[in-house]
Amino acid sequence: MTNHQQTIIDLRSDTVTRPSEGMLTAMFAAKVGDDVFAEDPTVNELERKSAELFGMEAAIFCPSGTMTNQIALKVHTQPLEEIICHELSHIKHYEVGGHAFHSGATLKTVNGKDGMLSAADVHNNINPDYDWLPITKVVSLENTCNKAGGTCYQLLGIEAIKAACLEHNLKLHLDGARIFNALATSKNTPKEMGNLFDSISVCLSKGLGTPVGSVLLGKKTFIRQARRVRKVMGGGMRQAGYLAAAGIYALDHNIERLKEDHQRAKILGETLTELPYVKEVLPVPTNIILFELQPFLTAKNFVEQLATQNIITIPLPHNKIRLVTHLDFTDAMLDKTITVLKKHIWYS
Ligand SMILES: *Cc1c(COP(=O)(O)O)cnc(C)c1O
Repeated sequence: MTNHQQTIIDLRSDTVTRPSEGMLTAMFAAKVGDDVFAEDPTVNELERKSAELFGMEAAIFCPSGTMTNQIALKVHTQPLEEIICHELSHIKHYEVGGHAFHSGATLKTVNGKDGMLSAADVHNNINPDYDWLPITKVVSLENTCNKAGGTCYQLLGIEAIKAACLEHNLKLHLDGARIFNALATSKNTPKEMGNLFDSISVCLSKGLGTPVGSVLLGKKTFIRQARRVRKVMGGGMRQAGYLAAAGIYALDHNIERLKEDHQRAKILGETLTELPYVKEVLPVPTNIILFELQPFLTAKNFVEQLATQNIITIPLPHNKIRLVTHLDFTDAMLDKTITVLKKHIWYS
């Protein structure tokens, strides 16, 4: 690491981490082959390992979580069909409207509490069978929900939604970009998730700290179709084992430690709650801190002043700020951040 990188405290996202020594060593040592021919042993191992972890039949390694979500929606729908999801979901806000582009499907968004849906939300949003309505086909949940501040479902809530989906013949997809953060807090197991969903997208490049990659999990027949869709999206990679090796390393080494990120996030949240220029801090169940500033301090100004102290964050609309803790955010950085938040003279 250069000195420059050492002094910067980057709280914009958990995607900003760089691969650790151990991860890089594993990547260098990877045995590789051509994954478009399904001949990369390390990719095959990552797919086997992640499917097994969730107790699902099969998996496919992809370049991004956007791709794994979009492949899942494409395989689950036909044009003129509809996906029920939360108003705050990533597939609605941050995937360039890919459901329309790739699948010719519509989204019906629901405004549930804390970024989560209930079984009643599902029941109430299934379209009746009229010529003029798209056919409801998929329910997509996000766990944790990023835009709601890293909130996570209780297992019971998902089970009720699953029952609604079974009753109405709907597929249930999980955008599990941060599923391991959710599981660390809800104390559930990956297999409990695998048991409930038709497809699960898991990001390896968020809290798990790899440079690239997501896996999509599902039944063998689903993954067979997913491989074709990945190819048409341009996501067929060749010696991708170097990247998959990072994923295997992350599954082995970086899941348990997520609770440290949660602990540091909680401390940051508690610190912010006591500061006079902070109006409101949302609960911090995982690694995302969302807070609103008092009107006398604008988010833009706050972010600029933090940047002068080498702490980088992003302003959100409505005078809000998001901070995300991650594996390159150390206790020393936490201490410095708290000192700056407390001592710096804040004004707009
Ligand atoms: C980051 C993220 C994605 C997609 O991730 P990319 O790999 O950046 O495409 C999907 N869903 C959620 C909730 C995310 O936070």
